[in-house]
Amino acid sequence: MARNGNSGAPELMVLMRSTASSDEVDHIVGLIQESGAGAHVDQSGEATVIGVIGQRAQIAALPFEGLPGVERVVPLRKGFKWVSREYLDRDTVIDICGRKVGGRHFALMAGPCAVESYEQTLQAAKDVKAAGGTLLRGGAFKPRSSPYAFQGLGVRGLEILSAVGQETGLPVATELMDARDLEPVLEHIDLIWIGARNMANFNLLSELGRVRKPVMLKRGMSATVEELLMAAEYVAKEGNEDIILCERGIRTFERSTRFTLDIGAIPVLKAETHLPVIVDPSHAAGKRPLVAPLARAAVAAGADGLIVETHPNPEHALSDAAQQLPSGSFGGFVREMEQLLAVDGKTISR
Ligand code: PEP
Ligand code: MN
Repeated sequence: MARNGNSGAPELMVLMRSTASSDEVDHIVGLIQESGAGAHVDQSGEATVIGVIGQRAQIAALPFEGLPGVERVVPLRKGFKWVSREYLDRDTVIDICGRKVGGRHFALMAGPCAVESYEQTLQAAKDVKAAGGTLLRGGAFKPRSSPYAFQGLGVRGLEILSAVGQETGLPVATELMDARDLEPVLEHIDLIWIGARNMANFNLLSELGRVRKPVMLKRGMSATVEELLMAAEYVAKEGNEDIILCERGIRTFERSTRFTLDIGAIPVLKAETHLPVIVDPSHAAGKRPLVAPLARAAVAAGADGLIVETHPNPEHALSDAAQQLPSGSFGGFVREMEQLLAVDGKTISR
């Protein structure tokens, strides 16, 4: 869903009764506008929600309480507004080329850490498709710790993803590291993700707020849940509300896993935001045998999706060889998740 990004943010939420008439809604909107403040009307849920946009002191004086049709008035005191569940108490469902994410729709994204060649990516995509996955992931621009390690195929990688996506009918996702690559990424890619290392690159986030493409935002390895939500607010503030959040593990003193998967962040995020929350068990695990147990935990904790690294020949992968699952046997993993999801009445989008 897109919104004009120049409007500021709601400071106050006016929840109308589900029985409120359109005249009653119009009356409230009129009062807001007469005061010089802005009104954002959301009718995605059962009851209309009106966000009041303007200076806090000016808005506080407006006499909404007790007016016909008004159920409740809630000041939005947190730093994040557009993405908060306090403002919109719903489960936002995001559409990626017809595949829904959020609510009862679970996204099972999979594919190689990096696009290495056309053949490797095509095989990975065929395997994801056959296993019943939602979308193909693949890094074309790779954020590597060493400047001498494989950095990805760049624009050629985007072209490969696009071709393979068309061939298999899977939507494709990749990481954007630099706003200078935005144009080819927009041309070839269906879901753009911001990696952990760029979660707090606020200019890049604002840039993505102005595009009409779903965005996935990965939690920084040292970022708090609130910082992740504030990063999402940077995107939403500019008008793009098609945002998926991703928990991918944080850095703690523990060294037995690559990162510590913060399972608690899933219910916390779900309580704080209406946006879908997915989990990357692969980068948290760092090792193949740990990926499925962490994925199971994520599903049980209420995640709206998973993004899993799979590769036709993981031992020979050019990056993250130890954690990628063999794509040829990914079907077993998908079926296992499907059984767990059935408990919550969720289905995998495909
Ligand atoms: C990735 O998903 O390819 C990746 C680099 O993950 P992260 O940004 O979470 O480290
Ligand atoms: Mn990786």
